[in-house]
Amino acid sequence: MTTDVRVRFAPSPTGPLHIGGVRTALFNYLFAKKHNGTFVLRIEDTDQTRYIEGAEDYIVESLDWCNIPFDEGPNRNEKFGPYRQSERKHLYKKYADELIEKGHAYYAFDTSETLDFHRKDHEAKGKTFIYNWHNRLKLSNSLSLSKDEVNAKLEAGDDYVIRFKSPQDETLHLTDIIRGDIKIDTNILDDKVLFKSDGMPTYHLANIVDDHLMEISHVIRGEEWLPSLALHFQLYAAFGWEAPQFAHLPLILKPTGKGKLSKRDGDKLGFPVFPLEWKDPKTGDISRGYKEDGYFPEAMVNFLSFLGWNPGTEQEIFSLEELVNAFDLERVNKAGARFDPDKIKWFNHHYMQEQDNYSLAKQFKSIVDDKLNVIQGKTEESNNKIVTSQAPHNDIDVNFVEMVVALIKERTTFVSDFWELSGFFFVAPSKYDEKALKKALKDDTAEILTKVKELVDGVEDFTVKNLQDAVKNWITSNEIGFGKVMMPLRLALVGALQGPDVFDIIYMIGKAETISRIDNLIAKA
Ligand code: GLU
Repeated sequence: MTTDVRVRFAPSPTGPLHIGGVRTALFNYLFAKKHNGTFVLRIEDTDQTRYIEGAEDYIVESLDWCNIPFDEGPNRNEKFGPYRQSERKHLYKKYADELIEKGHAYYAFDTSETLDFHRKDHEAKGKTFIYNWHNRLKLSNSLSLSKDEVNAKLEAGDDYVIRFKSPQDETLHLTDIIRGDIKIDTNILDDKVLFKSDGMPTYHLANIVDDHLMEISHVIRGEEWLPSLALHFQLYAAFGWEAPQFAHLPLILKPTGKGKLSKRDGDKLGFPVFPLEWKDPKTGDISRGYKEDGYFPEAMVNFLSFLGWNPGTEQEIFSLEELVNAFDLERVNKAGARFDPDKIKWFNHHYMQEQDNYSLAKQFKSIVDDKLNVIQGKTEESNNKIVTSQAPHNDIDVNFVEMVVALIKERTTFVSDFWELSGFFFVAPSKYDEKALKKALKDDTAEILTKVKELVDGVEDFTVKNLQDAVKNWITSNEIGFGKVMMPLRLALVGALQGPDVFDIIYMIGKAETISRIDNLIAKA
């Protein structure tokens, strides 16, 4: 085996990729990149009954969205291809045969009725039926039957499976990078099915053969595969192949910390459990995705990296590149990792601040256009005049939106938060917050606002600094309380006592719009 690091993500296309699958892919990616290795995508679609249309594309799109693309896989650098197990079908039989020849596997002809009978019989006695060394000679297989009987069955086309012959009275010494040494008594293992007479290998055989042929150096996968490790070790030994190193990642737990986070938890608990939105091809049901819910891939990746791993320092914010440098399988925990949907929001807030304002503005502009269209539509219906800002509604300048974004993004987590905080930049308030009105309007408010209007109108060189100087100097020299001026002024502009700096707002919406909004409030004062 080569000493190059080659890892693989090997999902089965049975539906959308669960967030836990994305974490597995991410850890594989980080490990590969850290060691200048190769990240392979292999599609494990041997179970055609569970195949779901569109699932493979969804997996690829999810990895691409997270910026963790695979180096080798279907339609990409097909050095060890094909990478879909359904296209490798023809390969596996000879390996099953090889194990039979070497005495590590055998044909079994037991019908499903017989096996069901044994299972139920054991259940009734409070036991579990295990097909292995202790009973295999009493069952129908090539170890219990004569050579002629076996050949007759094969020639007659009887259904069969090929089972691994798990040894008796041995202790296996397994190693896992995360879990250390594990000892397994072979007497408790069953003779797992490796191959079926429909010509298809089971997961175990296909997985081992492919990992070997694809020269995989490290198998990094979820904890749910730990029970298969003993068989996988034995298969490598039986073939005489060097086994890769194994690392089984900890489970991802529900937000309560109890129980595994499942695919159904998304609907139940109110947060997405899928990276991208997924439309079930059969039912048409839609499951929410992090992307469509407004999360940035950087937030997703940073959040997922901490599900089971930590850098051993206080640092929480990691770019993908920093993660590649810091990542170490030795620092992955055994204990389950609690999924905290608030934490990914925290990361999203952070990465919001790092987004380019222009690209945020482009996204936000389409929301603004929609909102204004709705507002304009309503205006026509009710025939009420809505006072508009200087910028014509249907042609909001993206540079203007960019300036708005710069003023508010510090207080946002999602682009969908923007309108709530900045709608007044695009449309004059149509109503005022009741409590704020009570607080801000005093007997002399109309008089004060009339003066402010004049001051704003008098600013020739229309800059934030000049506006601020004009109003503030007037306030100071007339010894008026700041609140008496600034509160109603803000209310006039925003409709509430919130928002960014008043002078930034005035500058942005312009002189005429400011005066018009002050007039609207004076009419109420
Ligand atoms: N096809 C398995 C899955 O769906 C792969 C397990 C493994 O990585 O060995 O997760």
